[in-house]
Amino acid sequence: CGIVGYIGTQAATEILLSGLEKLEYRGYDSAGIATIWEGEVNCVRAKGKLHNLRSKLEAVEAPAQIGIGHTRWATHGKPEEYNAHPHMDTAMRVAVVQNGIIENYRELRQDLKQKGYVFRSQTDTEVIPHLIAEFLKNPPSPPLPLLHSSSPFFEAVRQAVNKLEGAFAIACVSADFPDELIAIRQQAPLVIGFGQGEFFCASDTPAIVSHTRAVLTLENGEMARLTPLGVEIYNFAGDRLKKQPRLLNLSP
Ligand code: GLU
Repeated sequence: CGIVGYIGTQAATEILLSGLEKLEYRGYDSAGIATIWEGEVNCVRAKGKLHNLRSKLEAVEAPAQIGIGHTRWATHGKPEEYNAHPHMDTAMRVAVVQNGIIENYRELRQDLKQKGYVFRSQTDTEVIPHLIAEFLKNPPSPPLPLLHSSSPFFEAVRQAVNKLEGAFAIACVSADFPDELIAIRQQAPLVIGFGQGEFFCASDTPAIVSHTRAVLTLENGEMARLTPLGVEIYNFAGDRLKKQPRLLNLSP
């Protein structure tokens, strides 16, 4: 029910955890965080309150500078740790968090299972990392002209998103593309925060205002590619959009 993402130069874990704490008002039954460090996804999840997740994370060395976090309000699958987000593909290279519902997940799941993808949860969300992995492995042929972003990760995420039906906000990262965080909005809120050499995404501004007041609210059908150098906004067709952040006017 809440999403936070970070890419930059600070330790991501604490930024993600404190961001999720600011989103607690949205309600949740479990929570989790995935960071990228030394070529691997580190994914830690816990049922119940955020302090359960916090105490699990204390045991983990946490120097990663990129990651995503989630508080879950279960719609598909019991509120158990194995259903908590982030969810990963079979090879555990791609990690995804989602708010909302993927309406056509049954068909997608069946199709992906036939292709050999192994599902570890009961959620609608888990189809997304497997779809991204599939599009990374088998990009649509003939190869896309490089009209759009030249990032294979962004392209695979974009292809996957075009298969999804429903109302959702998504954030995803990959161990193979440690300098990219992709955030997507379709009928569920998502804002992008612009700092100095660090960028954020979140379901709502309270999660990021202690870091930056420069924010951009994604519209339906938009996706953002966050790197340590900046943010690019696209539509689901892959066209680059010219958008600027605005300054939140908050009393001190
Ligand atoms: N439908 C997803 C699930 O049940 C996401 C729920 C949410 O928005 O937290 O895992």
